[in-house]
Amino acid sequence: MFGGVIMPEKSIKLLATGGTIAAAGEDGLAPALGASDLLSYLPGLEQLCHVDAQDILALDSSNIQPEEWRVIAHAAYNALQDHDGVVITHGTDTLAYTAAMLSFMLRGLQKPVILTGSQLPIAHLAGDGRGNLADAFTTALTGQPGVYVVFNHKIMLGTRATKLRAISFDAFESVNRPLAGVLDARGAHWVNPQPITGETALQSDLNDAVCLIKLIPGTRPALLDGLGDLGYRGVVIEAFGVGGLHHLRRNLTDSLGVLRDRGIAVVVTTQCLYDSTDLSLYAVGKQLGDRGVIPAHDMTTEAAVTKLMWVLGQTEDIETVAARMQQDYCGEIGHDNT
Ligand code: ASP
Repeated sequence: MFGGVIMPEKSIKLLATGGTIAAAGEDGLAPALGASDLLSYLPGLEQLCHVDAQDILALDSSNIQPEEWRVIAHAAYNALQDHDGVVITHGTDTLAYTAAMLSFMLRGLQKPVILTGSQLPIAHLAGDGRGNLADAFTTALTGQPGVYVVFNHKIMLGTRATKLRAISFDAFESVNRPLAGVLDARGAHWVNPQPITGETALQSDLNDAVCLIKLIPGTRPALLDGLGDLGYRGVVIEAFGVGGLHHLRRNLTDSLGVLRDRGIAVVVTTQCLYDSTDLSLYAVGKQLGDRGVIPAHDMTTEAAVTKLMWVLGQTEDIETVAARMQQDYCGEIGHDNT
């Protein structure tokens, strides 16, 4: 089951958080298995590495929120002190958000942190749970440092993975970046790993007063106007195409400019899954840039939202927030800063 060049003396910690991979139940699936139960489905793993198991959460990932991201980040950081890598099992629904947030919180990693889950419970004979978990260990045992998502034999950078399919075993894609690696009968092969820079550190402060709004033609400005009074400090707008929005009759540009003038960070991303914002291309976008709105460039929505929370956890100075949102920390933003 486990191919490739692996050093048996390594030790990996499995952190279980719940999700379908750990699910059972007659009346709707709910997390039931802990980390040790999951390991019992991988006979032979103990001959390849020493594994410690820890249950940190037992949640459907729909219930994993900023508080849980901090719990997971602290557990992973602590586990890395005396292990060669960490595998985290997690529900697939919000796994991309957790992977992105861990990528920001776990600075300068020298070891791997691998997230995985599955579309069917691990006990399901024809499911993807055992394979994905085995792949996650195989990937962790390579020692390649960084936060990655492993799913359906694909290795994706934590800030680039997005759940695209609700049922298919091939649930995740790496958006705006080639796969970091793949798994086959010979083990894990890295083709595009992310270089690590800086000192290892846990930087888990965040500000969860961030929301995401997807525009439709005709979105009313009042929706945006109320955000400041609701206590939000940042908003990510999923706009049209490269970052357009309407100002005729319903002037969203003005509303976003007013939010920005009130000190609320406004980040504009695109509803298109692939490619980048470009506020300089159309007049409707250019007005936004002139009002101090921050382009998300080619970040995924998950990366833009979690990064904004993380950056606002460090500073609320709006110019610094704008600069940091456009700085690449861990492969989340391309160098095509149009
Ligand atoms: N609802 C589940 C979860 O995200 C789905 C899954 O794990 O596939 O926890």
